[in-house]
Amino acid sequence: MEPSEFRQHGYAVIDWIADYLEAPDKWPVLPDVRPGDLSRSLPTSPPDQGEAMDVLLRDFQRLIVPATTHWNHPGFLAYFANSSTAAGVLGEALAAALNVNAMLWRTSPAATELELRTLDWLRQMLGLPDKFLGVIGDTASSNTLYALAAAREIHPELQIRAEGMAGRADLPKVAVYCSEEAHSSVDKSAMTLGLGLAALRKIPTDKRLRMDVGALEDAVDKDIRAGTVPLAVVATVGTTSTTAIDPVPEIADVCDRARMWLHVDASYGGSAAILPEMRHLLDGCDRAASLVVNPHKWLFTPMDCSVLYTSRPELLKRAFQLIPDYLVVSEGNEVVNLMDYGVALGRRFRALKLWFVIRNLGVEGLQALIRQHIRIAQMLARWVDDEPSFERLADVNFSTVVFRHRPPEMQADKVDSHNAAIMEYVNATREVYISHTRVRGRYALRIAIGNVHTTEAHVRRAFELIKEAGARE
Ligand code: PLP
Repeated sequence: MEPSEFRQHGYAVIDWIADYLEAPDKWPVLPDVRPGDLSRSLPTSPPDQGEAMDVLLRDFQRLIVPATTHWNHPGFLAYFANSSTAAGVLGEALAAALNVNAMLWRTSPAATELELRTLDWLRQMLGLPDKFLGVIGDTASSNTLYALAAAREIHPELQIRAEGMAGRADLPKVAVYCSEEAHSSVDKSAMTLGLGLAALRKIPTDKRLRMDVGALEDAVDKDIRAGTVPLAVVATVGTTSTTAIDPVPEIADVCDRARMWLHVDASYGGSAAILPEMRHLLDGCDRAASLVVNPHKWLFTPMDCSVLYTSRPELLKRAFQLIPDYLVVSEGNEVVNLMDYGVALGRRFRALKLWFVIRNLGVEGLQALIRQHIRIAQMLARWVDDEPSFERLADVNFSTVVFRHRPPEMQADKVDSHNAAIMEYVNATREVYISHTRVRGRYALRIAIGNVHTTEAHVRRAFELIKEAGARE
């Protein structure tokens, strides 16, 4: 592509993005498509000759945008939001242009040093002590996997790095603990690392869906008595289903006593700790060996950007550092080579977008957004509480409200399907997108406010639609 042509299309793309971010509700939040619709519109084989860029951009608008679920839409209230700010989009574009691979310091000093500095800023924003080193990965799932791989290294006598875990008569059983409300990525980590799901102990939760520390202690003691090595506890600050907060200080005590790695999954909830009034959410996390937080969830940074902090970087390195001859460099210990902290050799320049977001919005700008989301969630919780036919099923610890419609005359066994029908009705309007969960088996509607464009009016509209559906269904 000639530079002049690139310029022309580049300007057109930026214009399109500017219009999009100005009015992300121009398209329905959920596309009006059925499985296979887009596939049927796409050629089944690639073009032999190159096509003009304006044809591609037309197809992007004609085919791709209408088949997209618009996570940027202010009515996106499902799961946990991933919404980006303009600064983040520009950072992503520039990272694509530089296209560095930050595997070694030498292969991109800027990407390496900016990652370390930006994550040190974020560490300060979260109130974590400076013993934590941060590295960026793609997702919390990968980062939890890496943390648990490092956890195995607190027991070097197990020789897992060298000998693996398969078919070893000399290897005692090992165990990892998390609450029954922990994210499925913990299960996947156990599966992937060769621990197996049998090594994962799902600890019961208390009334507020927080890990029951007494039950954790009992499970650890039982394992020790049986000769099993307790490796790690994954505590969650902001569980996926109801945003419950596990009692991290007490869990840290149990970890200390049994020499276990404490990993904190604060993928969603961690961002709230940038508010001084919410800092207490991370109480006890200073004692963690690792903590994951996702700027791509609630810090307005484009997908993907998940941060793994660790106070034991040497163990993360012991789990993953492997330097083939062709990657030996002369800088030695003077530098950080990011390839040493995970599975991936190649690393994108993800820090640039986060650096742009933090600088462009400033800490105060980010705080204002998060504070606003928490305020709207509290408001929604009050609306729910004020309606006698609705019941809230969980505390609102952050910006997520979990509730259900339960008219007094309705038979108990109809309530789940009634709420499932409400969700379908609401989402079929394509005005808002809400999701569901189960709380102790009960089907619940779930509204998570975290999108940079969402205002009180959007949440009010979602609740109106829910009430309308409740009256109809
Ligand atoms: N942990 C928690 C508490 C989550 O809520 C989620 C996703 O919502 C994850 C982990 C997985 O995040 P990722 O998509 O970055 O792997």
